[in-house]
Amino acid sequence: MGKRVVIIGAGAGGASVAAEAGRRDPSLAIAMIEQRGQVSVAA
Ligand SMILES: Cc1cc2nc3c(=O)[nH]c(=O)nc-3n(C[C@H](O)[C@H](O)[C@H](O)COP(=O)(O)OP(=O)(O)OC[C@H]3O[C@@H](n4cnc5c(N)ncnc54)[C@H](O)[C@@H]3O)c2cc1C
Repeated sequence: MGKRVVIIGAGAGGASVAAEAGRRDPSLAIAMIEQRGQVSVAA
């Protein structure tokens, strides 16, 4: 199984981390957990 990343909070910071992590290692399985109903589109 490949590496997995879980990001808590899908605001600007969380979305940016997810995008950058995916750019650096496309094989990562990335999940974001957000307590509110909306997530950021920042990247
Ligand atoms: C009134 C106001 C107006 C602003 N206007 C602008 C603007 O016009 N332009 C601009 O560039 N910036 C603006 N900012 C600043 C901008 O909102 C912040 O810089 C940016 O949102 C910070 O992003 P962040 O990801 O660090 O934090 P946040 O946006 O706070 O994101 C953190 C996320 O984590 C989630 N979270 C926290 N704890 C948990 C948990 N335990 N489990 C699951 N999810 C969790 C929260 O629900 C949230 O969605 C404004 C800020 C405020 C307060």
